Amino acid sequence: MIKETLFFGSTQNSYEPALFHGKTLLNHEPFAAVGKQLGLKQLVFVHQVHGTDGLVLTQAAAHKKTPSFVVEADYLLTNVPGIGLGVSTADCLPVVMFDPVKSVVGAIHAGWRGARSNIIGRAIERAQEEFGSCAADLEFHFGPSAHGCCYEVQSPFAHEFAAYPFAIKAFRKEGDRLYFDLPTFAALQLQSLGVKKINKHKDCTVCIPGYCSVRKNAYSPQRQMTVVTLANF
Ligand SMILES: [Zn+2]
Repeated sequence: MIKETLFFGSTQNSYEPALFHGKTLLNHEPFAAVGKQLGLKQLVFVHQVHGTDGLVLTQAAAHKKTPSFVVEADYLLTNVPGIGLGVSTADCLPVVMFDPVKSVVGAIHAGWRGARSNIIGRAIERAQEEFGSCAADLEFHFGPSAHGCCYEVQSPFAHEFAAYPFAIKAFRKEGDRLYFDLPTFAALQLQSLGVKKINKHKDCTVCIPGYCSVRKNAYSPQRQMTVVTLANF
């Protein structure tokens, strides 16, 4: 049986992506320990640019190693067991996708820009094109990110989401202040696409200690990882 195996990191195993540009990650900590834990043969991260392009790793990629933090993209998909897909975050939302029917996993970097540009929907479409995935079969897991308790925004920010009628449910007003709950928005977006299984992470990276957070520490280049792989059980 094929299942997805997940790892959500914290400041305990954070890293500076720029220092690992082009490197074989499984030879370096903190990635080596995670690779061992998940039984990875390869671990791939992309150079995240808050866009909507993605990288698909098929069997051919298992033979030629893909350099990490090089390809400009914000989601990864694979149907090859043992290839780990990684996302780096510090308040943005790491999203993991699993298709138990077609045996596909995905890792998506969804900040507010990516979410507004429907990167999650784009990754689902790509899984449909490449692997024949069906939205109703997909299972999603969110990693730790900034939540509505701490993610204060200005009112023009809300207009960015005008194309999504459900977005109003992701905003919260407190006096003159406005807060945005990115996981709620992403879950509503997924529901609108026909996804039923969504597991949110309970931790807010800003107010729960132990997470990298650009809202808490704007100048730190440290990021936490989310890694997913397909494993045979
Ligand atoms: Zn919070």
